[in-house]
Amino acid sequence: MTVKFCSIASGSSGNCVYVGDDKSGLLIDAGVSCKNILENLKNIGVCNSSIKAILLTHEHSDHMKSIGAMSRKLNIPIYANPSTWESIEGSIGKVKSENIRVFQTGKDFFIEDICISPFSIPHDAADPVGFTFNFGTKKIGLATDLGYFSDNVKDALKGSEVVMLEANHDIEMLKMGSYPYFLKRRILGEHGHLSNEASGHAVCELVNLGVQQILLGHLSKENNFPELAYETVKGIMEEKGIMVKKDVTLDVAPRNSISKVFSL
Ligand SMILES: [Zn+2]
Ligand SMILES: [Zn+2]
Repeated sequence: MTVKFCSIASGSSGNCVYVGDDKSGLLIDAGVSCKNILENLKNIGVCNSSIKAILLTHEHSDHMKSIGAMSRKLNIPIYANPSTWESIEGSIGKVKSENIRVFQTGKDFFIEDICISPFSIPHDAADPVGFTFNFGTKKIGLATDLGYFSDNVKDALKGSEVVMLEANHDIEMLKMGSYPYFLKRRILGEHGHLSNEASGHAVCELVNLGVQQILLGHLSKENNFPELAYETVKGIMEEKGIMVKKDVTLDVAPRNSISKVFSL
């Protein structure tokens, strides 16, 4: 059995991630159009009927814009925690009552054979989460939209083979850039977004815990670019004696197109 994992879109203009095995697949967030998501799934050989659910990390529009439409199109359930459901109520159109599913942050649950663990992340939303997915012995982790790399996040991601982690901004670009002061403070705060530098240090901790494949994501359009995120994280890893390509793979998820597809 092969497990596939990839980002379909990543960043403040829209997020969507796919994870699945030969039988069943999941979408995490749907912040870009259904058409975009379905085309990309087709391109990687995933048929619509294998998609069993959409999981929502939090209620920000770059994550939930199309979840209602996607649920209606494929007739699949949406899973979110109670506070997130409360926050999106009235803004995703009509969703069949059987497609409204609730999980509790910190409590594992199953969809088909996939064990899903939602864990709390520090971000300015009602009850934002990251996820890990266990397919038997294969574990994959996802954490974007986090103000800092907390012990809780680190513990949750431990043991993953692949981790998608945020590398949102370059601190200098953000400080010098055109964003208003309140927004700069929000992004730099403990409930904002992870900088390239913070991401680099977090990646080193993950690699020391055995993670071997890293996908950086949720890059800011204004305050980052892929080469800078990659080189900053790689530089911090090398300072700590971790060699990219030899010890670990490092990739960046593109904003508007599909990332590398990980096969485990
Ligand atoms: Zn967010
Ligand atoms: Zn976001």
